[in-house]
Amino acid sequence: MTAIVSSEKLCSGCDVVKNLTEFHKNGAGRARLCKPCVSALNKRRRDKRITEHGIDAERERQRTVNARSRENPEVYARHQAATLANNLALRRLRENHREEYEHMVREERYAAGLPI
Ligand SMILES: [Zn+2]
Repeated sequence: MTAIVSSEKLCSGCDVVKNLTEFHKNGAGRARLCKPCVSALNKRRRDKRITEHGIDAERERQRTVNARSRENPEVYARHQAATLANNLALRRLRENHREEYEHMVREERYAAGLPI
């Protein structure tokens, strides 16, 4: 018997049918949420942790995550590659939206009470 393999999947976060490439791999299958929904969920969780425990506690938590990652060379290499990819994407985004970026930097500096 031949299994029918769909190349699409319904995201249980946004209820949109998307291509499988829009879902992270999860063992032999795919994640329940699409990549943008996972990203939004992670951001909400991070914001909640910062609200409840403060930015210093969040930085300490991140240091612990990083230290644990360094203990496993495969995980560490993957995290390093992901960080590099994120930074390169951010750089391109910044270059493609220079004016908006500089405006946002001024807003954040103003909000932090820094000289503009
Ligand atoms: Zn989704």
